Amino acid sequence: MKRRDLLKGMGAGSVIAGASLAAPAVHAKAKYQWKMVTTWPKNFPGLGTGANQLAALINEMSGGRIEVKVYGAGELVPAFEIFDAVSKGTAQMGHGASYYWKGKSEAAQFFSAVPFGLTAQEMNAWLYHGGGMELWRETYEPFGLVPTAALNTGVQMGGWFNKEINSLHDLKGLKMRIPGLGGEVLKRLGGTPVSLPGGEIFTSLKSGAIDATEWVGPYNDLAFGLYKAAKYCYYPGWHEPGTTLECFINKEAFEALPADLQSIVLNASKVANLDGLSELTARNNEALQTLVNKHKVELRRFPDEVLQQLLEVSEEVVAEIAEKDAMSKKVYQSYKRFRDQVMQWHDVSERAYLNARAGA
Ligand code: CA
Repeated sequence: MKRRDLLKGMGAGSVIAGASLAAPAVHAKAKYQWKMVTTWPKNFPGLGTGANQLAALINEMSGGRIEVKVYGAGELVPAFEIFDAVSKGTAQMGHGASYYWKGKSEAAQFFSAVPFGLTAQEMNAWLYHGGGMELWRETYEPFGLVPTAALNTGVQMGGWFNKEINSLHDLKGLKMRIPGLGGEVLKRLGGTPVSLPGGEIFTSLKSGAIDATEWVGPYNDLAFGLYKAAKYCYYPGWHEPGTTLECFINKEAFEALPADLQSIVLNASKVANLDGLSELTARNNEALQTLVNKHKVELRRFPDEVLQQLLEVSEEVVAEIAEKDAMSKKVYQSYKRFRDQVMQWHDVSERAYLNARAGA
């Protein structure tokens, strides 16, 4: 009896050993040719190049077993149709920002930027160690997509204006390109938010089709030439305090990969997420000095009273999303709980330190 079990065990073991020896050989030969569609124009500074870098990382880390070809907005599908395209499998990956998909899922907005929400460091903490990533996967599951965080901009700038913003009155009637929940807040205060893809912002501001715009921060905005179309640059970017850009993968395509390649795709995204933030943090101040000293941009801080009102309205707007559907409620509750606790921690760590370092 024992001997038979032993033989059975050995037999089974040898089959498994044989299979596990053969499997890597098969996978080593398997090549995956993937298409990545993006919401950014091809090679767009900072964002389109971020998508390129992620694709290059996946190619490199997989030793060429996954070849990702990047398509700019409109090359394969228009910018705002990439979510559907990857969901249907027209392309295997997409690169964008989750607040573009609020028409699909209100909850999606929490995974890009929330006015007066989490900073980059806090966002990554929520996603990777606070339950955020699990909720993001659950939110995209019905669309057959696997999301990853693929770049973080850090705190953005408040935007470009051709008049000073001294009170809330100055926001009334203002036609401004500002996406997501920030746009909703502006609307409540009497402004008109406009949604424009990145490629159309400069000409719209220059021609006066819009009065103001926000984009990212000095490094990206300088590359865009926004200073040629507006006089004042305001800070801080209350509406986008640490915007996460995303990569999403067709779930079937993802699950067809062997485990090591799945890990490479997920971890390449993590590297890109950190590297994008590092790059912008390293470049932003130099770009800001160029804007102010060379291009004579007038740098302004939003008055406290304006920021206070924006904060109050933002809290209302964000809380209202929780009432839209069950998933939004679940994500809102997790996000809010995390923000409350990390704010307490950062009061005695980041904020206390930054104040002390500034001599405040
Ligand atoms: Ca922005």
